[in-house]
Amino acid sequence: MRLKDRVAIVTGAAGGIGLATAKRFASEGARVVVADIDPARIDAAVAALGAGPGQAIGVRVDVTDRASVDAMVAAAKQAWGRVDCLVNNAGITLDARLVKMTPEQFDRVIDVNLKGVFHCTQAVADTMILQGSGVILNASSVVGLYGNFGQTNYAATKAGLIGFTKTWARELGPKGIRVAAVCPGFVATPILDTIPEAVMQKMVDKVPLGRLGKPEEIASVYAFLASDDASYINGAVIEVSGGIML
Ligand code: NAD
Repeated sequence: MRLKDRVAIVTGAAGGIGLATAKRFASEGARVVVADIDPARIDAAVAALGAGPGQAIGVRVDVTDRASVDAMVAAAKQAWGRVDCLVNNAGITLDARLVKMTPEQFDRVIDVNLKGVFHCTQAVADTMILQGSGVILNASSVVGLYGNFGQTNYAATKAGLIGFTKTWARELGPKGIRVAAVCPGFVATPILDTIPEAVMQKMVDKVPLGRLGKPEEIASVYAFLASDDASYINGAVIEVSGGIML
């Protein structure tokens, strides 16, 4: 029970890595805000946590909308009076090669993946500063480290999150707040649905472990980083990719 009674907000928690993370946090004793833009899947996600009574709430949030983000943080504080961890997990892809990418595709991915993380973190920062403690975890990607064909917009956001992580680690560390980024490789979730099978196989062939990651294998890293086991980790960028670039 490393996260007993810690209050955690997980964005994009209705499915994929976010849901696995919310489940893992709940199983380690955390009180979890399951936040997602898709209202249809939030209740099922909260039920899937297997959390105790009053241990999880569902909140509809659009991370691109500051008022909606503020309401998400207010809901956490109304339920439990504090915020100990924010997992900035919500993210999207709208892939196209550079020469084909529309300004709309570029802007939308920047708005959700980069500006959304700015909104959410700014919205919890004052609370964590007052508490003198907190953990901010950012969902970057191996694509942010190495780039990827067809992902100009996505790569920019995921590299940008590494800049956020290092900047906030400097700014917020003195206030007792730790910040870290996780860079998953290719993990079996719906976000990969648009990638052609042949391209996916090529990716898998590059992984020394010979398979895609599982959402639970990213969730366990977030749980570690959120816990006191990671009490001296700040500003770190942790690749969880099965060694895809070795
Ligand atoms: P997913 O598509 O399964 O889940 C993303 C969730 O975010 C969805 O539930 C979606 O409804 C929600 N969301 C989308 N836009 C939102 C918004 N504006 N406000 C709030 N919620 C919103 O994706 P996933 O694979 O679980 O990925 C989770 C995170 O991990 C993303 O940031 C992704 O970029 C990152 N990541 C995933 C992989 C992978 O291979 N799956 C690899 C590296 C990084």
